[in-house]
Parts: sequence; structure tokens; C-alpha cells
Amino acid sequence: MAIEFDTPIQYLKGVGPKLGDVFRRRGIATVGDLIQNYPRAYQDQRVAQNISSLKVGQYVSLKAQVKNVRVLNMGRSHRKLYEVNLMDATGIVRCLYFRSPYRGYFERFQAFQPVRVTGKVTDYKGRVQFQHPLIEPVEEQSEEIKDDVLPIYTESEGVKPGKLKQLIARGLEAMEEHKASIEYLPDWILKKYSLMPKYESIIKLHRPDAGHIDEYIEFKSPAHRRFIFDEFFQLELQMILKKKRIQSDQAPEMDKIYLSAIDEFKKLIPFELTGDQQTTLDEVTEDLCKPYPMHRMVQGDVGSGKTMVALMAASFVAKNKKQSALMVPTEILSEQHFKNAKEWFNQLGLSVELLTGSMKAGQKQQVIDKLQSGECDLVVGTHALIQEGVEFNNLGLVIVDEQHRFGVEQRKKLKQKGLSPHFLVMTATPIPRTLAMTVYGDLEVSIIKELPKGRQPIVTRVVYESKKPKVLGFLKEQIEKGRQAYVIYPLVEDSEKIDLKNATDEFETLKGMYPEIKFGLLHGKMKAVEKEAVMELFRKGEIQVLVSTTVIEVGVDVPNANMIVIEHAERFGLSQLHQLRGRVGRGQHKSYCVLILGYAVSEESFERSKIMERTSDGFKVAEADLEIRGPGEFMGARQSGLTGFKMANLVRDIEILKLARKVAIELVEKDPKLSRAEHASLQTMVEANQEKILG
Ligand code: ADP
Ligand code: MG
Repeated sequence: MAIEFDTPIQYLKGVGPKLGDVFRRRGIATVGDLIQNYPRAYQDQRVAQNISSLKVGQYVSLKAQVKNVRVLNMGRSHRKLYEVNLMDATGIVRCLYFRSPYRGYFERFQAFQPVRVTGKVTDYKGRVQFQHPLIEPVEEQSEEIKDDVLPIYTESEGVKPGKLKQLIARGLEAMEEHKASIEYLPDWILKKYSLMPKYESIIKLHRPDAGHIDEYIEFKSPAHRRFIFDEFFQLELQMILKKKRIQSDQAPEMDKIYLSAIDEFKKLIPFELTGDQQTTLDEVTEDLCKPYPMHRMVQGDVGSGKTMVALMAASFVAKNKKQSALMVPTEILSEQHFKNAKEWFNQLGLSVELLTGSMKAGQKQQVIDKLQSGECDLVVGTHALIQEGVEFNNLGLVIVDEQHRFGVEQRKKLKQKGLSPHFLVMTATPIPRTLAMTVYGDLEVSIIKELPKGRQPIVTRVVYESKKPKVLGFLKEQIEKGRQAYVIYPLVEDSEKIDLKNATDEFETLKGMYPEIKFGLLHGKMKAVEKEAVMELFRKGEIQVLVSTTVIEVGVDVPNANMIVIEHAERFGLSQLHQLRGRVGRGQHKSYCVLILGYAVSEESFERSKIMERTSDGFKVAEADLEIRGPGEFMGARQSGLTGFKMANLVRDIEILKLARKVAIELVEKDPKLSRAEHASLQTMVEANQEKILG
């Protein structure tokens, strides 16, 4: 049969049903998938490799001899470690395995047997080693390597590297005659942006041009550029099209006349908006006056005044005789926002209600009735707001605070009478702009960078466990001065394996140590009412030190608290630490954040935490986090298909991302429905990927 791009893999000569299954388990279902299974690294063959020349971080493939194979038992856990020691004339290197790559893998090796080892050189206590490299027996005399750059593929059980290369070559050959059909980008894009044609790029990934080794090793060759461009472009194009769809929806249009509501509001508050707050407010009100729904995200550090801006926007909507809903992730926060909103709204003659899951049925019904009759201008609540039975009279604006998982489904639920409400999402996780562009490509972004005047900077210190008595001494002093503090732990309950102190234990210990201090405990396993009771006591100052897990992470505001101690800080991401730190520095008192690291923490981890000492700028912290941990840690990143990139890397390939976005915008402007003949393959691709990318 004729082999085409989407021919099932088993029909390629030399594969068959059995190997076909092996490939499918690896996500390679078609011949097209196979030839796009690009090398994960390239090795520079110009330098002669031997054991003494190994450098950490390199991908290498070198010949050596087996010295010995050892199986180490790991104590009680019954786990095994495997060690293969290799030698050549220059030295010995250890290869470490946490599991056998496949059955019989180690049994093949005998002392003095010639082998080829391929993998990444890592560091073990200052010595080089390999972790999970591929070791293949070789004939002593064979193996002349001609090319100067050697592609290295991910190994897998059941497919020998030689076989894989052979099959890829066969696939490429079979595909040659379908060159043109593999290309889905129109000529004008390829030409204008100097992108390598698809087929050529696939070939070149497997068979690098001589003389371009460095480009290949860094994934910067024109072939890589094309592959990475495609990954970004598919995502960006979906985002842009989605944005178009949103803009074809109808939304309640506000009237600028009622901006007077905001002027009134401003007279009430005892401070002036910062420049960034004003700009954001202008952007929001501008959007609200358009006939299609606003989709805007406000990013700003904790305490930068986002909620204030949102409430002002809601007052404008209320004067337009439309309702607003403010959704927050926890009941604690909804109570807090409710109290806050009520203070201002009642003075403006507007009404606010609270709706949460734990309210009594009767109370809930009252609120639901008011929403339906239109008596209520603003409702603050948790997810209960979008449950069955909640209907609005004329919902104009939905504000989502600190919300990570507000998806298409929820939006649909809130659509009514053919109108879509305006959306405002607020987040205190400062997302690097580049990432925001991809994750939230369908959202407009406003940024509040400037903090309100008079905020005290937070002093941050990173210390090891051994300094804890000193830290507690300092904490005691703060309490004696009338301040309050948080002590944060990563886990709630003892888990058998992980040796982490937990909040509950520590709460008891601290109480015993300082009987004169009033401690409170807060953790995720508590009921909502219990949590709220504890928070209320803390707010009132009747609890002086709140021992807590990360449930307090978002938005809690107690200005008198000026110290936060975070235990096992190495367990948290930098952005999360930054969020936690934002619990303090909210009042006029000088504030402190102490990050305590466990004894076993690596140098690297220590250095990473030090970033927190150097900067209080959430965006800088986020950039560092992105470089260290990748985009998966950021909110929404997982859902948005961002982590699904095979080759693209948001830090390394930022310029290509920008280009992809630009091209997607240009394309949709030219041909909004992708209906031109030259865009037919693009249209097919968009339809095929829509589910996968937008979920
Ligand atoms: P965010 O939602 O960004 O965490 P908030 O809107 O809750 O911030 O504001 C934090 C605190 O700062 C609140 O007590 C709020 O009243 C106050 N605030 C907001 N804007 C300003 C400002 N421009 N000047 C002084 N204080 C402000
Ligand atoms: Mg807030």
C-alpha cells in the first residue's frame, strides 16, 4: 500500500502489528508521527570522546568497556538501584539506574564487553556520571562515525536505536513524493517569514547539515525553528480565532454617562488611585462600553489594589442597572470581599449580597431571589454562584478573583438571554508577559505594577533549619510589640514517607513552647465554618500567631500581621512563596518574611530561594520561576496545552513565539474564516486541533 503521512505505523515495512503497538504506546501512531519523532539531542562528534573528557550537561555517545554491573538493595523499601561501571583507557564512569529499562537489560553485559553508552552527563557529588543512559553492545571493530553531528533519540523498550533510525529513514523516503501535502502553511507565510518548508525541516532534523553543529546542539537550526514555530503557531492561531468568536458575541453595553458613579466612589475612599490603577480602570470601563464581551485580565501583586479597581468597575455597572458577580475561590475570601464591598457599596446606595456553598438553604434562597428580581447589584461568592438555580436578572459583569479554573463551561452557564456578560479576571500571580500571551492569548491584559504609596518593603531572609530558635525569638518580640504573625507549613498530616513537620504537630509544639502567646490553627481539612471562625479571631487579634497550611495563600488581608515564617520553603515554587509573602506588608508596620529550608536542601535550592531576598517584584520572581520550573507551574498553563510542547521552550524560544503570534494575527486579519483555497490545509488543521488545544 502507498505510505502517506497518516498511514498507521504498523503498515510501514519492517514494523508490523507487534512493533506497531510498541510505537503506539509511545504516542507514535502514524508514519507522520514517526518521522516527526525528532532527536532529543545532538552530539558533537568532532571532539574525540573518552571518559576523562566528559563534561556535565553534554549529551554524548562514547565507546567503553563494561567493568562490572551491580545491583544495590535500597533498605526496607525493597527498591533496587542498578549500577553499571564502564571504563576506557582514561578512566571509569558510573551509570546509575533506578529501574531496569527493560527486562534482561543488565543481564546482557559481561566484564570487558565493548559497549556504546549514550546519554546526558550529570553530576553526582562533584563527579560525572550517567543517569539512565542507553548502553548497547557493539562489535569491537565496527562503528565508523562519519558525520560530525550525531542525532540521539529517546530510547525505549522494544525498539533498538539502529532499528528506529532505519525505520525513520524508510518513512522519510516514502514521504518524499507527498512533500507538498505535508505542508500546511501557505506559500506567502513561508516566504515572508523565511520558514523552512515542512518536509525539508523534518529531513534536516534527522540528518543535520554538516558544519552547523552548534545550531543543532542548541536547537537553533532553521529546521528547529520551523518545528518550534509550528507548535506555537497552532496554539496562537486557536487563541486568535477564539478571541474572534468571543467578539462576535453580544454583551450588555454600558453607557459612559454613568462613569459619574466612579467619581462618587473616589470621593469616598481615603486615598488616591495609583497611576496603574487608574489606567486599568480606564481600560476596563472602555471595554464595558463595547457591544461585545470584555475578556480582560488584571495582573498585579497582592495588595496592589486590584479588588478596589474591580469594585469601582462594578459600581459603574450597577449605575447602568446591570448586576455584577464577584467570584472567589474560598469562603474565607468571599466573606472578606463581601465585608469590604459592603462598606463602599452601601454608602453609594448600592446593594451587595453574599452567596456561598455553606450558607443555609433558606438564606441562599433569599439571595437567589434577589438576584433574580434584580434587587441585588453585586453578589460576592464562591462557585455556588454558578450552580443550578442561580439566575440573574441582568448580569453585566463577572469578576473572577484569583481564580485558576474558570473555563468555557462556566462561561456558558453564565450566558443568558443571548447576552454574554463581560469578564474580568484578577490574578496576583504575576505571569511573565510572554507566558500570559500564550496561556491567555484570548485575553487582554492590564498590569498594576505600582504599589499604593506608603507601603513598607518586606524584609526577606532565607535561613537553614538550624536558625529556627533565633527566628522564633524574633517572632516572639514582634508579638510582644503587638503585632501578629503567620507560620506556614507545606503539609497537613503526617505522611509515612515524607519527613515533614506538619501544621498540626507544630501548632502543639509552639503552644507548649510559648504558653503566653495565643496560637490558632488553620488547614485545608477543616470545615468552612471552622476556618472562618479561626480567621475571624485572627482578624480581631484574638489569635496572635496563625499556624497554617497554604489555605491562606490567596488574598487574606490582616494589616496588623507583619511577619510570616515559611517552613520547608524548598517545597514551594517561587511564585507561591511570593504569594504567601504578600500576606504581610499590608499595614504601616515594617514586615518580615523568613524562609526556612530543611537541612537536606541542595546548594541550588538555596540559591534559588535567595532570589526572594533580592526582589519583591512579583514579575521578576515569576520570570525566575519560569526559567527554573517551566510553565507547567503557572496557573492555567496545564489546561491550555502549554505543557504539551514537544520541542518548543518558552524561555529559549520566546522570539519564535512572538513571531508565531504575529503571523497568526496577520493571517486572521487577511482571511478571518480561513476560507481561501491556499488556507484549506490550515483550516483542516485548526478543526482537527481545536479540541486538543482549547479543551
Ligand atoms: P489586591 O486585590 O490587589 O490584593 P486590594 O484592592 O485588596 O489589593 O487592596 C489592598 C489594600 O490596599 C486594601 O486595603 C485597599 O483598600 C488598599 N488600597 C487599594 N488601593 C489603594 C491606593 N491607591 N492607595 C492606598 N491604599 C489602597
Ligand atoms: Mg484582592
